[in-house]
This record gives sequence, structure tokens and C-alpha cells, in this order.
Amino acid sequence: MTQNYRLTLLPGDGIGPEIMSVAVDVLKVIAKRFDLEFEFHYALVGGSAIDETGEPLPQETLKQCKESDAVLLAAIGGYKWDNLPRHQRPETGLLGLRSGLQLFANLRPATIVPQLIEASPLKREIIEGVDLMVVRELTGGIYFGEPKGIFTDTDGHQRGFNTMVYADWEVDRIAKVAFEIAAKRGGKLCSVDKANVLDVSQLWRDRVTLLANDYPEIELSHLYVDNAAMQLVRSPRQFDTIVTGNLFGDILSDLAAVLTGSIGMLPSASLGQGVPGLFEPVHGSAPDIAGMDKANPLAQVLSAAMMLRYGLDQPQAASHIEQAVHNVLEAGYRTGDIMSREMTLVGCQAMGKLLITALEV
Ligand code: NAD
Repeated sequence: MTQNYRLTLLPGDGIGPEIMSVAVDVLKVIAKRFDLEFEFHYALVGGSAIDETGEPLPQETLKQCKESDAVLLAAIGGYKWDNLPRHQRPETGLLGLRSGLQLFANLRPATIVPQLIEASPLKREIIEGVDLMVVRELTGGIYFGEPKGIFTDTDGHQRGFNTMVYADWEVDRIAKVAFEIAAKRGGKLCSVDKANVLDVSQLWRDRVTLLANDYPEIELSHLYVDNAAMQLVRSPRQFDTIVTGNLFGDILSDLAAVLTGSIGMLPSASLGQGVPGLFEPVHGSAPDIAGMDKANPLAQVLSAAMMLRYGLDQPQAASHIEQAVHNVLEAGYRTGDIMSREMTLVGCQAMGKLLITALEV
């Protein structure tokens, strides 16, 4: 029986529409091959939404997103909107989307593509074969904890403070997502905290350890965040799935991303409970190359693959896309951002056509 999915597409700004168009072509081929039906609904977000409606996240867009099975976003922002007041900035639209959909789990894979291994700042023997996923808690921890502020103390000195706080249920729900992702991947989960110093981390560790009883097939380990940062650089192949809080995850997911060496290749996902997931490339709207057919559409296409795997539970369709990306790179085709000697330089649209051919094989 044909599976039917309603997708909200948010092309956004800059290179967004160019790379989204490639992803949509890819999804159309996937639909035919895997007997799926995608209903595409376009909506406005970011700078383009400001231009049309005066707001970075129109109510209509949020409503459409909530009514869909998954949301695929390209990128938002650009010079034109940089000087608007904060509540009218494109980024406010993105934050509104994440909070409006209550997306508390951020998934950032860092996979070494064998053909791009030279782009990594690490040595080949260290980086070869790396395939890891950072699961970051996105809506709690020190970025949102109360009380917080800057005040002047009785001694006349100013003091700034924030509160790092997690409730047991917040740890449980992100850990559950991470255990389930580890089960779909290599079956190993490493929880990262600072339980040797922080009480909030001790609670984190206790809850993750308790939840592990429900997942006997997953091999659970714990690392302090300082050691985790060191191990990610020294021996990244040891990791499969990492779960951590908001602050540590912010830092470690960027560290993991830089291991791969190329921003135009990195997808991401944000998930909640009983709500559609949001899937988007890690990179921004690249206004410096917008409209020039120079953008690398692969992070967008790989975000569509993540949508199929983690949002729509279609792992075979996801793998088919990932294999097509692999094959096009193997054949030597590169956009400018990942170009190296003796490879064939192509633009965004040509890369899209090559992908379609690879998918149809
Ligand atoms: P950026 O990621 O847009 O660009 C950084 C550099 O990488 C640029 O030189 C750009 O040309 C290049 N690049 C990025 N993606 C590429 C791709 N797919 N193919 C080829 N080259 C690519 O980051 P920035 O320049 O700091 O920000 C530009 C705008 O994007 C800003 O308005 C920023 O606020 C916004 N932004 C949006 C998001 C998002 O939508 N999630 C994330 C980061 C930045």
C-alpha cells in the first residue's frame, strides 16, 4: 500500500531555494521507487517571510508545520535583514519554529565521507571510518535555567549567573530518543556529563543509567565532557551515538562537525514527542554565493535522507539517497566548496541532475 506523507517545505533565503529544489527532485524519484506519496506544501520563514508578511515566522507557517508529517527547512538569513530589531530578525523565525514545535532533541551526525577525507583537519588514520551522531538536549539546561541575570552585590561588584537545571523527565525523554537512535545505528551510546563536579550532571547520569535497563541491547558508557572533547579529536572512531545536555552538546556537536571538514555536507534533525521533526542543513544561507548556482546541495539532500530515516521511518529510502551521494562523489564530481585537484567542478543544478541519475540506477 502506498504510504502518504504531508511535507512542509521551507526554502527560506539565500541559497535556500536552490538547494531545496534539488532535494524536492530527489524526493520525487524516491517516491516512485519506494511506493511513497509526498504532498509538498511550501511556506515562508526567515527573511522572505519578513518581506511578504512583516514577520519571520507567520502563524500560517507554524500551523502548516504542525499539520504535517515532517518539515524540511533549507536556510534563513542574509545581509538585507541584519539590522532589523531582534524580534524581526530571520533567526527569530527559526527559534520560534523550534519552540513552537517543542523540538527538544537535536541530532547532528558527523560522518566521514571517504572521498572527502582530505578535507578533515585530522590525519587519515585517525578520521577514516568515523560515523557518529551527537544527540543534544535543545530546550533545557543552562541556556534556559532560572534564575539568571547580572546584579550588583553588596560589595559593589557586578555578578553574572545562570542556572544549569534538568528535571528527571527532561533527562529521561532525551535519553530515550538517544537509546532509540543508538538502536537504529551501531548499538552503542555514550552519555557525556560533568558528574564529578556538577549535581545536575549526577542526576543526568543516574537517570540515563536507570533508563538503560529498558535497553539491554545497547552498550552504555559515560564520559566527562573534558575527556569526551579530547577523545573526539584523539580517537573519534570509538563513538557511535553520544547523548548530552544543551551546553555540552552545543560545543561537542560543532567539534564533531569540524572533524568532517566541510560544512556543505552536514545535515541535522530536531525531534520532539508526537510532533513533526524539523530537518535542515547545518550551514546557513550563504548569501555570498546565492543565485550563482554554486551552492552544494548535498547537506540539504542528506537532511531529506534524515527526514526519511528519523521522521518517517523509511530507512531504506534514506540509505538509497545516501548511497547516491556516495556514488556521485566517487565518480569525482564536486561543487566549489569541496573541490580538490583532478575532480570535476559542477554547479548546484548539475549536482542535482547527477544525483537523480545515480538514484535511478
Ligand atoms: P553560512 O553557513 O551561510 O556560510 C559560511 C561559508 O560557507 C560561506 O562562505 C558560504 O558561501 C559557505 N557555504 C555555506 N553553505 C554552503 C553550501 N551549501 N555550499 C557551498 N558553500 C556554502 O554562514 P554565515 O556566512 O555565517 O551566515 C550567512 C547567513 O546565514 C546569516 O544571515 C546567518 O544568520 C544565517 N545562518 C542561518 C542558519 C540556518 O538557517 N540554520 C545557520 C547559520 C547561519
